[in-house]
Amino acid sequence: MRSSISSRPNDVVSALLVDASECDRVTIAPHLDAYPTPLLERLVAADCHVRPLRDGERYRDASPALRRLGVDVDVWPVPSPGLFVVEERTVYLRALTPMTIGQEVAHAIDCALGDGVYRSGFDPQIRSAFAAARAFVTPYAASGLDEYFAECVRAYADRLNDARSPCRARRASGCTRAIRRCTRSSPRSSPA
Ligand SMILES: [Zn+2]
Repeated sequence: MRSSISSRPNDVVSALLVDASECDRVTIAPHLDAYPTPLLERLVAADCHVRPLRDGERYRDASPALRRLGVDVDVWPVPSPGLFVVEERTVYLRALTPMTIGQEVAHAIDCALGDGVYRSGFDPQIRSAFAAARAFVTPYAASGLDEYFAECVRAYADRLNDARSPCRARRASGCTRAIRRCTRSSPRSSPA
């Protein structure tokens, strides 16, 4: 199974996308392709998925976990363009912009590399890179370890940034070095 996925990136995208219309797939697939295929395979192996919302569909309609937990993100003053629900290992997308897809899939990568929990929460190199950081790929990256990881991963995927993005200038950060190391390590490598 994995060997056939390795040679066919479209299969990886098909394995990740659930309940996606052909139109959604055409929009989302190029942004998934911004990530290296082996990294997308890690998402598939970790049973992660990407689920676009339909027109008018609410997060709580699509996500059993949010419904069960009573987390009503749909009434937030500024509705989130995307969410990653760790319990379901699922990215929900209300907006299909490169920024949103890249950010939320990066959270899924964090979860896959951490074998079900955010790798950024326990990896000592990522934690120390965040603690020592004096500049961030975006201001949002400074808001927490998980967002630091997600924004660095998004910056790591070239095509998710436009040429004027400060991400490009700042992407050689400690976090991206740590991410490169993580993506080469075993999915089940234990925290140091
Ligand atoms: Zn985020």
